[in-house]
Amino acid sequence: MKVLVIEDTVTSAAVVCSWLINMGLNALHAHSGEAGLEMFKSERPDLVLLDIIMPGMDGFEVAHRIRQLEEDGAWTPIIFLTARADDNDLQRAIEVGGDDYLIKPVSEIVLQAKINAMRRMAQMRESLRVLTLKLETANRELQRLSAVDGLTGIANRRCFDESLLREWRRCSRSGLPLSLLVLDVDLFKSFNDCYGHQKGDECLRLVANTLEKSTQRPNDLVARYGGEEFTAILPETEPEGAVAVAEAMRASIEGLGIKHARSPVAPVVTISVGAASLIPPRGDEHGIPMLVKAADDALYRAKEAGRNRVKAARGVIRVAGAWAGFGSSPH
Ligand code: GH3
Ligand code: MG
Ligand code: MG
Ligand code: MG
Repeated sequence: MKVLVIEDTVTSAAVVCSWLINMGLNALHAHSGEAGLEMFKSERPDLVLLDIIMPGMDGFEVAHRIRQLEEDGAWTPIIFLTARADDNDLQRAIEVGGDDYLIKPVSEIVLQAKINAMRRMAQMRESLRVLTLKLETANRELQRLSAVDGLTGIANRRCFDESLLREWRRCSRSGLPLSLLVLDVDLFKSFNDCYGHQKGDECLRLVANTLEKSTQRPNDLVARYGGEEFTAILPETEPEGAVAVAEAMRASIEGLGIKHARSPVAPVVTISVGAASLIPPRGDEHGIPMLVKAADDALYRAKEAGRNRVKAARGVIRVAGAWAGFGSSPH
């Protein structure tokens, strides 16, 4: 432990330093306030013993400046060691950042006891700091986990809900279209029946990661909606763009070539995709479930039409009395 003694009277500094050395501490001496501050900067001591009356910068000013030099959360204990016995001086010493105030002459035993008390407080402070850091790390990890799907490692339903609301608001402010894809693995029940659940899980992981890789913009989000269903949020994306992304996703899953002997659609695992797009009306979030439903309905039509294909929502989506979306006007 490094102790900085800031004291202009050489004899009294020498006595204090010898006591510190007796305690097994590393003693540094500065003979003026200015020199003390410089030494504080370069040595970063663990404790400061500070005189008040010194030529030039006095102890109050030194303590005040030391507090300004410290980084956020750092705290170096300061004990004033002074001949001034006035209560007002003590009050001011604590106000400017001092932790204790001893009136000279001080005995070796008292000084040692005070230093030990400060050391104990500094240790408690340090353990609290380490604990807080650990807690912050754990919180971040918890937050990350709460947004991730356990099986596939991609965003989960909760993350999807939050992102959709955020992107809905963003697109409604900018007046740009928001597109949504709902993707479902074709005949996945029979895949499980044929190859077992473990292979089924492996397949879902591969499908999830392939879908995630096929989005390109930083605000696109692929999430696991549940079971063998996935979603993709595509902000600032026109219907044509959404269909293009959907088609690329469909092709990339087929291209994986995961054997599916019982599928009448293809010899490999395939997906069907429903797409819907609209320009979210300003200040109205009631349309969010309607956008999801429109994409879901389109998915249903893709299934009906034979699976392994993309269908887009037809016409426009009615949101709270206003018509939002694309295509011909409603009738
Ligand atoms: P469709 O083409 O109409 O979507 O047919 P499908 O068989 O995929 O649809 P259905 O909804 O009948 O069955 C979905 C199946 O997905 C049911 C279940 O066996 C399987 N499944 C859902 N979640 C999981 C999962 O986490 N792991 C595994 N292995 N299978 C899952
Ligand atoms: Mg002095
Ligand atoms: Mg399915
Ligand atoms: Mg399904």
